[in-house]
Amino acid sequence: MKINLPQQQTKIVCTIGPASRSEKTMTDMVRQGMSIARLNFSHGTLEDHKKDVAALRSVGEKLACQLPIFVDLPGPKIRVGHLGEEPVRLQKGNRLILASRDSGQSEPLIIPVTYDRLAESVKPGRTIYMNDGFIELTVKGVDSQGVHCIVAVGGTLTSGKGINLPGLKVFVDNPTDRDLEMMESALLLGIRIFGVSFVDSAETIERTRDFARRRGTKIFIIAKIERAQAVEHLDEILEAADAVMIARGDLGVEIPLEELPTLQKEIILKANIRCRPVITATQMLESMVENRRPTRAEATDVANAILDGTDAVMLSAETAIGDYPVEAVSTMARIAIHVEGKRRSVRSSKFLQNILREDLKKGDISVPDMISLSVSETVEALDVPIVLTPTSQGATARRIARLKPECWILAVSPDRHVRQFLNFSYGVKPLSVDTAAVFWYEPVIKGLLDSGRIHGGDRLIITGGQFKDVPVGTDSLGIITIPESRPSPA
Ligand code: PEP
Repeated sequence: MKINLPQQQTKIVCTIGPASRSEKTMTDMVRQGMSIARLNFSHGTLEDHKKDVAALRSVGEKLACQLPIFVDLPGPKIRVGHLGEEPVRLQKGNRLILASRDSGQSEPLIIPVTYDRLAESVKPGRTIYMNDGFIELTVKGVDSQGVHCIVAVGGTLTSGKGINLPGLKVFVDNPTDRDLEMMESALLLGIRIFGVSFVDSAETIERTRDFARRRGTKIFIIAKIERAQAVEHLDEILEAADAVMIARGDLGVEIPLEELPTLQKEIILKANIRCRPVITATQMLESMVENRRPTRAEATDVANAILDGTDAVMLSAETAIGDYPVEAVSTMARIAIHVEGKRRSVRSSKFLQNILREDLKKGDISVPDMISLSVSETVEALDVPIVLTPTSQGATARRIARLKPECWILAVSPDRHVRQFLNFSYGVKPLSVDTAAVFWYEPVIKGLLDSGRIHGGDRLIITGGQFKDVPVGTDSLGIITIPESRPSPA
């Protein structure tokens, strides 16, 4: 059995776009450390996405690697409508009307928007942001013409730019009809992983899951946390979703910017506690869209997200439309490799272990939590390089992964989709092995020895459950020592 382990435990999500569409670039990106491909359905056509899926699958096959593809649905994002060829320059003090129709009127200027209930959502005095927060409008009033605003911070506006209404209710079903149409097409392409945008409660997740379930399909849902309402309902969203993304692009406009760094830490910790993989996204290496090297602040941002316990880091424009997509991946991987090696001395992952230990003292720690805590402590005490974890739904592997142990977690699951979904967890390598035999792990150990990942004298951990078919039935931990020289088979 051949076991190729990536160079870094942190998962790197790369958005595919015009800059990374060729098989050659995709191949280079995988070689440099890309773990997951993201198709952003807010941009491009279905034809583009179909070609991307085919190219990614072909690259995955040629490199013999699992390359999960996730489709990011646009959700109810409000956008500027068609403005014509020329950009519109807005200056502080300009008056304008936001309306769901375009009258071509220039005094006061009418800006078309893609949301016809805007007047019901806003109130005089509230702020509306456009173009990623660079343009700021103050609402003056609402009448039959639309929403009257005055420009507080000016800028240049073009068609299709995003509009944010921080803290205001948006009267659009989520997922939208368009999202569901896109999901239908993606499901037909065999996609089982979806990012759900602008989630505000668990209901959005449940509706998305139901849609797939009615088509007989089990899906993995990544809830994008990008609204204040999502932060308020974080606990129920974490319960309902399979993973979360800290979508800092919109989140950084929807909440005061100064709150973003501490909120990021809080979301990561809560997701870790609930065993939900967490992706930290947007502008991680933004300057690499145009430059070969990132800024010091960007490198530090990636490192800090990893130290805080993120499972994955994401590249958006850097790989979708940037000049240096492959370099952006290799830079991210280099930072991750270095930080992972320093995690123990920085000690930030101890925080979660301490929380579990506190639970232990109170006497309310569950058996699987106790096993995951013991695994991470054993890995550290005995320098264990590999943990072998049979896992039916992936729960045991995620429980261990959230503690960010300095080892690879080889998650053995019979279910192809569970294996695909486990790719989002830090340091987890999913494997398909038949565990029916008593010594089922022998071929895995041989594969690890052959690839030089382990050596005689190393200790490995194998977790197990005494009762089959019990969800999260892991209740034991075994330590085996690899003999210094293994007898060759007769
Ligand atoms: C974000 O807002 O940070 C994000 C990842 O979502 P999108 O790319 O869809 O704006």
